[in-house]
Amino acid sequence: MSAFRTLDDMGDVRGQRVLVREDLNVPMVDGKVSDDTRLRATVATLAELADRGAKVFVLAHFGRPKGKIDPAMSLRQVVPALSAVLGREVGFLDGCAGQSIAVAGHKMADGSITVLENTRFHEGEEANDEALIEQMAKLGDFYINDAFSAAHRAHASTEGLAHVLPAFAGRAMEAELVALEKALGSPEHPVAAVVGGAKVSSKLDVLKHLVTRVDHLIIGGGMANTFLAARGVNVGKSLCEHDLRDTALEILDHAQAANCTVHLPYDVVVATEFRANPPVRTVNVHEVQPNEMILDIGPAAVEALADVLKTCRTLVWNGPLGAFETPPFDAATVALARTAAALTEAGQLVSVAGGGDTVAALNQAGVADDFTFVSTAGGAFLEWMEGKELPGVAALTRS
Ligand code: AMP
Repeated sequence: MSAFRTLDDMGDVRGQRVLVREDLNVPMVDGKVSDDTRLRATVATLAELADRGAKVFVLAHFGRPKGKIDPAMSLRQVVPALSAVLGREVGFLDGCAGQSIAVAGHKMADGSITVLENTRFHEGEEANDEALIEQMAKLGDFYINDAFSAAHRAHASTEGLAHVLPAFAGRAMEAELVALEKALGSPEHPVAAVVGGAKVSSKLDVLKHLVTRVDHLIIGGGMANTFLAARGVNVGKSLCEHDLRDTALEILDHAQAANCTVHLPYDVVVATEFRANPPVRTVNVHEVQPNEMILDIGPAAVEALADVLKTCRTLVWNGPLGAFETPPFDAATVALARTAAALTEAGQLVSVAGGGDTVAALNQAGVADDFTFVSTAGGAFLEWMEGKELPGVAALTRS
């Protein structure tokens, strides 16, 4: 990874106007923020800059207004929750570009924090439009990108600004990039990757990239069924992409050529109906009946995978091993996550996990805090696992 500058490289920022791209795209229920995880991630950067006397302006998108002003998607409604999380006053300006906003911005006090209106109210945001970038740049003396979760998009506020203002990574972005570098950039080997989730089709590029980077690829979830079926296993009524047979076999060939050991389950938990606590059987993969579906990997497989993790120094994890939202099909995910957490606590393993469902699964196992790093980014985390260059990150390392 090429070097990027951080808040440590900014020097004296007292009285300077700093534009900080954050992720404020939080879920709302009845006008209230229902999960403030993303807001908490902004605290380190915003509080530090304010404490250093900068005039801080927060740039962010909210929802998908598609270039039109839509009061229902105003960032004004997130201000009270952000203020509560920061434990300080947060102001709001009714735009994120233009002369009147620039004038109002200049008048803000040193050490103040002000949220600017939804960047996606401008068509130029998603188009990474030069005219909009130029207008936004007039609001700040510095640009900070602190929103890794939006870094896979080359938008005006996530990429364009980094080319026209002195650009730095915020604290959350910095932590994310350091962790990801340790996990896949230049990791300590052996490296294991756990990839689970519903479908192979949504993670094809992840699997193709990982087999060239890791020593052990552990496949679970619905996508394991596609691989098992490709190898001639009868998976009954299981979720399975039979049309991806050739692709699955190709990935297995690539893995073999790259000296990557692929681990598929040899025992599984099956049921004839998909609901909470149905009658289940734990069987060898060759014993699945035509009317049964595989909903989790089995305890023998989990034990074998735990032994694999014990030989590894690094783990990267995306996706659950089973249909974890529905008991008892969370058992394998919870058990292996606890093993990974224990190995991490013992200093034997660097463990990095990410993606929406993965975070929920680790929370369910009660171990999210015990991993080395858990990324709450969805799309950006997957693109990073695909080995893709993220435009928002690339712009920071080049500027
Ligand atoms: P993804 O968004 O691709 O990470 O997929 C996550 C979803 O995959 C979760 O909702 C799980 O319930 C689901 N899933 C995992 N394993 C299975 C399985 N064996 N059968 C059906 N769904 C599964």
